[in-house]
Amino acid sequence: SSIYKGRKVVVLGMARSGFSVANALAGMGAEVVVNDLKERHLCPEADELEQAGITVICGHHPDDLIDSDTSLLVKNPGIPYSAPPVKRAQELGVDIVTEVEIASQLSSIPIIGITGSNGKTTTTSMIGHLLQSAGVSNIVAGNIGVPLCDVAAVSENNEWKWIVAELSSFQLKGTVSFKPKVALLLNVAETHLDYHGDMEDYVASKLKLFANQDDDDFAVLNWDDPFCRKAAEGLKSRLLPFSLYERLPAGVYIEPPYEKGVVPGKSGQEEPERHIVYRAHASAGVMAASPGAGLGEGGLIADTAAEAVAEAVAEAATGAEPVVVAAVSELGVPGIHNTANAMAAAAACLAAGVAPELLAEPLRTFKAVEHRLEYVCEKQGVEYYNDSKATNPTATTMSVQSLKKPVVLIAGGLDRGSDYMELLPLFRGLKGLVALGQTRAKLENIAGLAGLTAVKTVNDEGDAESALREAVKLAASMAEPGDIVLLSPACASWDMFKSYEQRGIIFKQSAHTL
Ligand code: ADP
Repeated sequence: SSIYKGRKVVVLGMARSGFSVANALAGMGAEVVVNDLKERHLCPEADELEQAGITVICGHHPDDLIDSDTSLLVKNPGIPYSAPPVKRAQELGVDIVTEVEIASQLSSIPIIGITGSNGKTTTTSMIGHLLQSAGVSNIVAGNIGVPLCDVAAVSENNEWKWIVAELSSFQLKGTVSFKPKVALLLNVAETHLDYHGDMEDYVASKLKLFANQDDDDFAVLNWDDPFCRKAAEGLKSRLLPFSLYERLPAGVYIEPPYEKGVVPGKSGQEEPERHIVYRAHASAGVMAASPGAGLGEGGLIADTAAEAVAEAVAEAATGAEPVVVAAVSELGVPGIHNTANAMAAAAACLAAGVAPELLAEPLRTFKAVEHRLEYVCEKQGVEYYNDSKATNPTATTMSVQSLKKPVVLIAGGLDRGSDYMELLPLFRGLKGLVALGQTRAKLENIAGLAGLTAVKTVNDEGDAESALREAVKLAASMAEPGDIVLLSPACASWDMFKSYEQRGIIFKQSAHTL
């Protein structure tokens, strides 16, 4: 931790994570300068930072912020690489990192790192819940709420065995030596293109998760996603794949597997009873490679769990028979995408040394996270679901497909240049669509191409809240008993709302007061 002692470090962006990392670096003896474009009165953290001996500059980027004395620039993940101080750092060859990098240098507690385009928060919270229920103490942090540096700074005083970290590609792009013990890549959809410029850069950011891993570490990869499969090439860590559609020689999968392209429950045929199963690698795989050793050592897992693992491993090693982890019908979260999230979460826990038989119960008890296909209420036989967090077409498609009833969809929001045509097949199967926000005309067009006639748009030039309330009323008028009204916008919220949370809360209030 002394590598920064006496050296000039600039923290760009003062939000919560900036505050956290500035304090951490000051604690490591660095000369910290925090800079934010916001005016001083909008930076409530400034006084406290100054009391800790940190220089705070608000309202502008000084020209000499980054100079030849600067040894590091810690950038808020949301600040683009085109911002002048970042460009300057690049010119001078100053390392540019995010708070995640500093956190990983601060803490010696092993990290389970979760990234992907969709399902991060759900899977991250699920892992926290599964570990806790299995008696393995852990802390959930990162993109999900508490900055990683806050957690890392106090980690030595706690009995956490794991830090479970949700990571965005923006955060990962600014890592150098970050080395999660267990790394999950859930999926890669064509989102965030506006920020990363192109897909290659986005994928490269995600792949940084595995860059420093070695053969004691684990990579949990979605075997149904071509980009994730590609990530397996050149991996130095141990591969633990999961799949909805294939019986894997080793990994986590569904028995019997789903059929690709067939939406469960909509094939007209009766659905078989399905289970999540785990097949350990017979020889050099996930656990069989190190029965009783490896992850069991150094107190990384609870003693009881370690014994169970050793037993499971001994069994698996003799024939690698699949072990049933949980029944799909009993999962606490709806939809095939959540089954994939549950498999990923289970795989992470298995890699962390939890015995498979400890996972069924917590997989049952874990319920949806707020704003993610969250059940709201029933009004006149119509059910309302809040999926405000679905901010891209893939997420919305997943959500609609996972509901077993006719859907009147409320969608639209900030136009980020995604390929909204992706929604065409989905729109063919809708009962109705209410479009609002910046993308409303685009969505209306696609609905037309899909032959959907029950389409209404809401003019939102006035205030956002009334517009959304109006949309809910329209959707309610289009729905019949037995239908579902779903807010799943396929777009970010910032064209109208402060956040997707605000959008979801207004939706829920509107539904409750119909
Ligand atoms: P993230 O944190 O990556 O944004 P969340 O867990 O918050 O993901 O879920 C956001 C939305 O994405 C959900 O409401 C759902 O519509 C969709 N989603 C969740 N998991 C998946 C998945 N595995 N694949 C595709 N879409 C998903």
